[in-house]
Amino acid sequence: DDRIAAIAESIRIIPDFPKPGIMFQDITTLLLDPKAFKDTIDLFVERYKDKNISVVAGVEARGFIFGPPIALAIGAKFVPMRKPNKLPGEVISEEYTLEYGTDKIEMHVGAVQAGERALVIDDLIATGGTLCAAMNLLERVGVDVVECACVIELAELKGRERLRGKPLFVLVSST
Ligand code: IMP
Repeated sequence: DDRIAAIAESIRIIPDFPKPGIMFQDITTLLLDPKAFKDTIDLFVERYKDKNISVVAGVEARGFIFGPPIALAIGAKFVPMRKPNKLPGEVISEEYTLEYGTDKIEMHVGAVQAGERALVIDDLIATGGTLCAAMNLLERVGVDVVECACVIELAELKGRERLRGKPLFVLVSST
């Protein structure tokens, strides 16, 4: 698809952010390019529109940028998966391991029902820990996670191997 190359080019790489040695993939420059942003959303919508998906779950923070326009276009609800202590209602939470230490994401109880079909979306998959935790939260309440999707995959980190065989769809694979 010739839209992909322009999307890849619109993503800026910032060396040594947030700490030395990290090459940060910055999608804010993709958002500055209306065609690249629209093409990004369209590519996901084309893939998911006829898959009977009723839930788009977006991971804080950049899953909140890509998830809602996809949800609106395919007629699904949007469910935010948030960092700890941000959601005001009753939550279920899932802990996951980082390079150093652990982190947690939370979802509102009652946001989804058992048997619903979900897409999990984030901007980027690195080690896969975040997407795996999001998937676990949904599966714990009986939701069928159809697929995970990201704009960017850092392929070297083999994050997709952490997804327990769940399909992962990405637009740009970066090495
Ligand atoms: P993982 O849990 O190791 O797969 O890390 C993925 C999470 O970290 C996602 O929520 C990303 O938004 C964030 N992340 C890690 N590296 C980058 C980056 O280079 N650019 C933007 N987000 C990143």
